[in-house]
Amino acid sequence: MNLILMGLPGAGKGTQAERIVEKYGLPHISTGDMFRAAIKEETELGKKAKSYMDAGELVPDDVTIGIVRERLGKADCQKGFLLDGFPRTTAQAEALDNLLADMGRQIDAVLYIDVDRDSLLERLTGRRICSQCGATYHITLNPPKEEGVCDKCGGELFQRDDDKIETVKTRLEVNEKQQKPLLDFYNKKNCLQEIDGNQDIDDVFASIERVLGGLPA
Ligand SMILES: [Zn+2]
Repeated sequence: MNLILMGLPGAGKGTQAERIVEKYGLPHISTGDMFRAAIKEETELGKKAKSYMDAGELVPDDVTIGIVRERLGKADCQKGFLLDGFPRTTAQAEALDNLLADMGRQIDAVLYIDVDRDSLLERLTGRRICSQCGATYHITLNPPKEEGVCDKCGGELFQRDDDKIETVKTRLEVNEKQQKPLLDFYNKKNCLQEIDGNQDIDDVFASIERVLGGLPA
């Protein structure tokens, strides 16, 4: 099973990725991990990537795709993989198709965890942090016993600037814009699988299991 996991921030990708890895034994391949590993192993491409990152520049596509190619060629990917955070553009998606074709493989499903905008806003803006001990809460998902006060130390809770509604809205819009052409790309190839992410975590995973159970073996 060669899978791609997609979803906006707050859609619960991380949790579902863990479950998929656990049940299906696929390696979870995120772009960040892939770069870190290539840099640590000091591969030619890893060194190249590092030189761009050290200069504060974007790593060019040919380097990124080369690193993906190396990673997908490793033994643990023989039975499949779960890609997360790659591809980010349709150019990368086309390059991924080509490199998989060279290996005699293809993407079997793109799992897109779809969550209503309002729910995403609620999830992403609800975080509160204790100003004294750093404990984290969520006003609806994990509220403190007394509003605005830390259960553990009595410290005052605050909202980080990153979690404020205007910042979150902008972040979602940027991600949506980036994601749209990719969703269209995979939809046209008939491998886009929309998963209703508005359900609770177990039901989201059950939906994923149904999709994966229906893939041709
Ligand atoms: Zn505290």
